[in-house]
Amino acid sequence: MSRAKHCESVRVVVRCRPLSRREAAESENVLHVDDKLGQITLRNPRAPPDDPAKVFTFDAVYGWESRQTDIYDDAVRPLVECVVQGFNGTIFAYGQTGTGKTYTMQGVPGDPERRGVIPLSFQHLFTQISRTQNQKFLVRSSYLEIYQEEVRDLLLKDNSRKLELKESPDSGVYVKDLSSVVTKNAAEIEHVMNMGNQSRSVGFTNMNERSSRSHAIFVVTVECSEVGPDGEDHIRVGKLNMVDLAGSERQSKTGARGKRLKEAAKINLSLSALGNVISALADGRSAHVPYRDSKLTRLLQDSLGGNAKTVMMATVGPSHGNFDESLATLRYASRAK
Ligand code: ADP
Ligand code: MG
Repeated sequence: MSRAKHCESVRVVVRCRPLSRREAAESENVLHVDDKLGQITLRNPRAPPDDPAKVFTFDAVYGWESRQTDIYDDAVRPLVECVVQGFNGTIFAYGQTGTGKTYTMQGVPGDPERRGVIPLSFQHLFTQISRTQNQKFLVRSSYLEIYQEEVRDLLLKDNSRKLELKESPDSGVYVKDLSSVVTKNAAEIEHVMNMGNQSRSVGFTNMNERSSRSHAIFVVTVECSEVGPDGEDHIRVGKLNMVDLAGSERQSKTGARGKRLKEAAKINLSLSALGNVISALADGRSAHVPYRDSKLTRLLQDSLGGNAKTVMMATVGPSHGNFDESLATLRYASRAK
């Protein structure tokens, strides 16, 4: 398989978390995952018992028993390998708040057994690099947040500053003045992630409140230089974006008014813009990919489509109380296929 071929394409996968202890005591499981067929079956708890359940098929599905390393090996590992080869890649975690986006992306702080795809990708990346010969690598990371269509740098002490998106013929769309940190091993880059996470929770009464309304994007840029047969230095650059999206729940239902309602409209706008971009790319025939409709899609333009590889990881909860949102998430993910 040619390198470019292996590195293109959009994959859509779904992960279902287990019932929480509280849910297990008081709710019904309405979701069934068949990982062999790549299917998820969702039963409407309000429908009559003979009503057929809804069936969705994806590139891969992961049930409640799936481990972090299963997800990494199956869905993310190929993406990181492409990035080391100089391609761009993006993984999104999409879903209702509380369904496991952050668990999947970051894992549980202080629990090495349950590290998420971001720290696992750091480890993999530096292992790959240590195995190469005659090549020099420079790994840089940035961590930013999009909240209310405003971009902020999570690695700066003062993260209140709004950054601008710029475009140039050479570098495409970029964030002006975004900081980046050079990292030499997996521990260093994990430290960068933790610093950004700390700065993310500032100004909100709790982390969930903020994370349910903003997109967090961890960007790892891998630059490789190698002396070619012509004796010249050749440089190739790959970029990996790992995105923990704002909660997909319909905010209007939560009784939002005024400022909150405007905020909700912006979240919905950027998630639907992302859905439109991914479905245009997956379709492959659309002449127009509407990148410009949101900051998120504009910012990631060079990592979505073309030779870039994209994984959309949708997360759902299995309880009957999640039915409406799980259905909305599965529909969104189906559209992206
Ligand atoms: P989100 O980021 O989508 O709001 P979280 O990642 O914070 O959701 O997950 C909500 C809760 O569910 C957390 O307590 C988390 O530890 C737990 N959880 C999520 N996914 C899983 C999973 N696959 N296995 C075990 N616990 C999970
Ligand atoms: Mg979260």
